[in-house]
Amino acid sequence: MTIQNKIALIFTVLSAGIILALSIYIYIFASESISGSFYHRLEVRAGIVGHAALEENKSKTSVYYDFKEKHLGDLPFENHHVIHNVNSARARNIKARLHLPESFYSQISFDTPARFFRRDTSYVGMKIAKGDKNVLVLSTAVDVFGLAEMENLKNLLVTGFLISMFFVFTFGKLFSAQIFRPIRLIIRNVKGINAHNLHQRLVPNDSNDDISDLSQTFNDMLDRLEITFEVQNNFVSNASHELKTPLTVISGEAQIGLSIPGLPQNAIDSFNTIYRESERLEHLTNSMLSLAQTGFDGKKEQWEELRIDELILDVKEAVDKIIPSNNVAINFDHLPDDDQKLILNGNKTLLKAAFSNIVLNSCKYSDNKPVNVIIRADQTYAIVEITDEGIGIPDREINQIFVLFFRASNTENYKGYGIGLPLAHNIIRMHQGKVDVHSRVDEGTRFVTYLPFK
Ligand code: ADP
Repeated sequence: MTIQNKIALIFTVLSAGIILALSIYIYIFASESISGSFYHRLEVRAGIVGHAALEENKSKTSVYYDFKEKHLGDLPFENHHVIHNVNSARARNIKARLHLPESFYSQISFDTPARFFRRDTSYVGMKIAKGDKNVLVLSTAVDVFGLAEMENLKNLLVTGFLISMFFVFTFGKLFSAQIFRPIRLIIRNVKGINAHNLHQRLVPNDSNDDISDLSQTFNDMLDRLEITFEVQNNFVSNASHELKTPLTVISGEAQIGLSIPGLPQNAIDSFNTIYRESERLEHLTNSMLSLAQTGFDGKKEQWEELRIDELILDVKEAVDKIIPSNNVAINFDHLPDDDQKLILNGNKTLLKAAFSNIVLNSCKYSDNKPVNVIIRADQTYAIVEITDEGIGIPDREINQIFVLFFRASNTENYKGYGIGLPLAHNIIRMHQGKVDVHSRVDEGTRFVTYLPFK
């Protein structure tokens, strides 16, 4: 879950808790106050009934009832039971019918009436005395309006709760989206920065807050990275340049040596080995030089229009020099009818380095078994498939073969540095292309490169 959603959720849960507690408080408070006032009205009526019952003068009794009738009126389902003698059979009968708990009766005293509520009905018990006589009045009534009011209040609170939750969550999301906007912006900008555009910087916002601090910290880090990258890059470039000249001289001298007539066979073999190995070393230094160039800023290079089939023929020539016994066959059967689909815009030297690395690997890791190169095209790309019958790449390592200096676990019998494929990958990506790899251990590997035609 994103932090943004987490904040919206926490905000909602917190608000839900507060609104729920407030709703419960309002409900309890309203319920107490409505039932309190209803009990009070019932007690007033129970008092009148009790006093009427204690009145010996019957004309006065009717005055009580008249008063109650005229000024107070009846409550819904109002009922009074007057008990003169609590031990009488009638009293027992009434108690059995009302079926109230014993605690209710024990609460009743002359000062305080007892109150009880069960299944919508309110019960009041009062003791009323006059002179030496007293009566117990048990009154019941149903607060129809109060109950309806409470039901309304409950519905109102539940609806209000749900509506407010909807708003709280929506505003919570908007609010957290607003807060995280600058952070998302930073993430997007940082994602766009890679080895090719290390000079790019985040734009710190004007506010002097933590976010602009974060941008500034990123920018400082990028400054340091850029310097380190440039130093490393310059070193690799310079070292490769320095190595190139003596290597060219060595291979040239070896070729001159080979052309000396009447040379004994062991001297020819030695010159051949010197020539091959210096070509191999030259290829490696060229790769390192290209890696330094493509790793930093590919745009420095010169781009031109070139044909992929011609490029692959050049690659084959270079491979023949390094591994004369190779078994690479170029298959032109799948060439597209439309020649335009073979024309790319790119850097010839770099693309040659990329493809020769892939093809050389295929020869190397298959011990010079046949390597098949197919050139074809689809609607967007000129496609080159390079298939070998070599040792393959273990499944779980296939994702790492484009990582610099990575070598698979089954390559211990083969020389290598883990530079060639990352370089090829860099170069092809620089040309807006992509590379797919399919491989099975001990069966072979297929590299499929896609480069957009012009
Ligand atoms: P290396 O110098 O080791 O060949 P690369 O960068 O050219 O370095 O290749 C990286 C790794 O990818 C190799 O070490 C090897 O494990 C694997 N790999 C590349 N091409 C092949 C292939 N055709 N067959 C089997 N494994 C390959």
